[in-house]
Amino acid sequence: MTLDPETFAALRNQVRRFVAERLVPNEDRVEQEDAVPAELVAEMKDLGLFGMSIPEEYGGLGLSMVEEIEVCFEFGQTAAAFRSVFGTNVGIGSQGILIDGTEEQRRTWLPRIASGEAIFSFALTEPDAGSDAASLQTSAVLDGDAYVLNGVKRYITNAPRAHGFTVMARTDPGTPGAAGISAFIVPRDTPGVSVGPPDRKMGQRGTKTCDVIFDHARVPASNLIGGQPGIGFKTAMRVLDRGRIHIAALAAGTARRLLRDALDYAATRRQFGQPILDFQLIQAMLADMQAELLAAEAMVRDAARRYDASRRKPDPHLPMVAAACKYFATEMVGRAADRAVQIHGGAGYMSEYKVERFYRDVRLLRLYEGTSQILQLVVGRGLKTHGPVPAP
Ligand SMILES: Cc1cc2nc3c(=O)[nH]c(=O)nc-3n(C[C@H](O)[C@H](O)[C@H](O)COP(=O)(O)OP(=O)(O)OC[C@H]3O[C@@H](n4cnc5c(N)ncnc54)[C@H](O)[C@@H]3O)c2cc1C
Repeated sequence: MTLDPETFAALRNQVRRFVAERLVPNEDRVEQEDAVPAELVAEMKDLGLFGMSIPEEYGGLGLSMVEEIEVCFEFGQTAAAFRSVFGTNVGIGSQGILIDGTEEQRRTWLPRIASGEAIFSFALTEPDAGSDAASLQTSAVLDGDAYVLNGVKRYITNAPRAHGFTVMARTDPGTPGAAGISAFIVPRDTPGVSVGPPDRKMGQRGTKTCDVIFDHARVPASNLIGGQPGIGFKTAMRVLDRGRIHIAALAAGTARRLLRDALDYAATRRQFGQPILDFQLIQAMLADMQAELLAAEAMVRDAARRYDASRRKPDPHLPMVAAACKYFATEMVGRAADRAVQIHGGAGYMSEYKVERFYRDVRLLRLYEGTSQILQLVVGRGLKTHGPVPAP
């Protein structure tokens, strides 16, 4: 699942140009309209971005993780809303079907997800089950040849425009925790499935989240992912391992943009008769941004290599690697955004400068797909069980 180097280089250059020429100039429009323009979504479909992680045999580009993170580095350099349009299709919305789905489930859904014809979301979180996802209460009760779902999912990315969901629900109410959980493919038009109003958020305008409500929603038993109950939590965690490397790459990409913007501002803004870039205290902030960015990029590339290798030979350290990588990269971009605002002075607090938007947008990265605290716990537990991650 790796493209030949020339084909991949051409794709990356195309994405780089698309980000610079089509997306960056539209950032303010997305912020004002709280929506990504339809023509840009169509262009993303044409580039194949909705299916970049889906194998070619199911209609996708079939990028390896090592390749996917390079695309994320590029997308990190513009407003977060653009990547979010296809983010759930590429990651958490589709990968459960790819990793653990039956061949029939893959053939039915993945080509539509890869083309962008179907938007798919991942529905794990509930009002009373966030970090403690294994305590989720949405139920799925077998009734003849169908499962009947009841429950509420919260903060589900892309749910307002989704055509389907991968839903984690409890099939065995007698088994608390992870073992009683199964994963389902639930089409949006299933009677009994509805969505709440879009959430109003701190940042990432143009991205959409909302509640998803299941009220006696009947889904065919053949929509149970993998055809086997009780493995849904494991499926979700494997999806998140992958998603965490993707988000870490995005964080690194954004830190690169923030460094560029901060450096440009420092070079042009003058105080005390000289550019503020000449002040060593400003240089120190920029140097910290640069050093931490290089560390995050190296870490993400290493994690992606390990992810690809783990598909050939399972790696018990992978969850730790993915968690450590997202933990470091997303905390790092938080510091980078803070420094970028500081370097801009009062202008950094003003909406007309992009760093103000990035400062709000990157805050989310430390919360979803595992908060920083949960990621620390994953690494801590992994160290206890498996010992330190071996050197590459
Ligand atoms: C914009 C947005 C989009 C999202 N998209 C999706 C999506 O598409 N699909 C989906 O399923 N979910 C999604 N989520 C949900 C997200 O994954 C959860 O919000 C996140 O996992 C945290 O859960 P919580 O909000 O319930 O916080 P809580 O779990 O209540 O955590 C509150 C605080 O307690 C800390 N904490 C919790 N447990 C521990 C512990 N054991 N030790 C130390 N500290 C702890 C947390 O780190 C946090 O600081 C999204 C959230 C947001 C905000």
